[in-house]
Amino acid sequence: MIYFDYNSTSPVMREAREAWLDATEHISGNPSSMHDFGARAAAALLEAREKLAGFLGCKPEEIIWTSGATEANNTVMHHFSRTLGLKEEIWISGMEHPCVMESAQYYFGKRLRLIPVTHDGVIDLEWLTMELADRRPGLVGLMAANNETGVIQPWREVLSICQSYEVPFFTDAVQWLGKMPAKGLGECDFVSGAAHKFGGPRGIGFLKIPHKKQVAPLLLGGKQERGVRAGTENVSTIVSMMAALEAREKQISHNQHVLRGVWRDNFEREFLRAVPNAVIVGGKSPRLWNTVSALMPEGDKRHLWVVRLDKAGFAVSTGSACTTGKEEPSHVLAAMGFKPAQAIRAVRFSAGWETTEADWEALTKALVKVHEELSKVG
Ligand code: PLP
Repeated sequence: MIYFDYNSTSPVMREAREAWLDATEHISGNPSSMHDFGARAAAALLEAREKLAGFLGCKPEEIIWTSGATEANNTVMHHFSRTLGLKEEIWISGMEHPCVMESAQYYFGKRLRLIPVTHDGVIDLEWLTMELADRRPGLVGLMAANNETGVIQPWREVLSICQSYEVPFFTDAVQWLGKMPAKGLGECDFVSGAAHKFGGPRGIGFLKIPHKKQVAPLLLGGKQERGVRAGTENVSTIVSMMAALEAREKQISHNQHVLRGVWRDNFEREFLRAVPNAVIVGGKSPRLWNTVSALMPEGDKRHLWVVRLDKAGFAVSTGSACTTGKEEPSHVLAAMGFKPAQAIRAVRFSAGWETTEADWEALTKALVKVHEELSKVG
């Protein structure tokens, strides 16, 4: 079975597995305890915090461990709902992950404004620049790269504009981390990440918060994590998450991802040659090296594509894991201006660090075969 669904979750890397086992075996204390066991756990947490801060380019005390990105993103929305004035708006892009979108809708209702997205899958930077010149929201949120299309967002530019107007900027860096260098993300006021998207374990993530700023906690009942997130920290998974990110950052620094981008581009060329009526979503925009979102030619049979590819030995998806099984077409593709009848045809291939050039080539062959089969079904 060849795995092309890294954007939903990725296999745990050897480095992460070994680090988890080692920490579980040797670190048994609660980091908040006063005794030596506790001190050793606290030291492991501090080391992990320093590592992550080093990668992002921020201060270790700005890192808060969470159960994943969903919690981190909900914490951001909750914090602003508690601290902004009753008339203040927040602006986020129309293609954010549901854990940002739905919590923003929940906390802000009509005070939520969606930043438009172009047909190429990038936010409308011109719109944002003009609107910001006119009025100031209490927060701007833009993901670093989209999970469905892989389209890279101009988060650095938006950060810089927000800084010039002193508007806090939040980026969901879940799909960016482990695929692109983390450096520079730490300049954003709020940054979220989840270990299982970059080869770490599931159920652990982080939120980078601004220095010395008190953030309203979502979880109450303990003084852990500067009082921003109550609950005993899961030391082994935190250590494991950092081992994964360290390994990914090392591979990225050797430009491993650039070569992998070439394999993906070759795949797209061959795929479009063999299945000419297919459309690559966001194909004109800079995208993560691992992601291809394609509108398949065969009507609304995208589930058939997934099932047949599964039988042929390829794990792919119909979009984000969170929308799988839902009948509605993706809100991301809708924000890009695709009609429901088009959006329903999207199939996503997301490769990873273990994907080989031969895997991409094998996928092309399988797609050609399934295309032939499905076009006969009519
Ligand atoms: N943000 C983005 C962009 C994602 O792709 C995901 C997961 O698919 C999340 C947030 C949520 O992450 P988790 O399920 O690990 O909390």
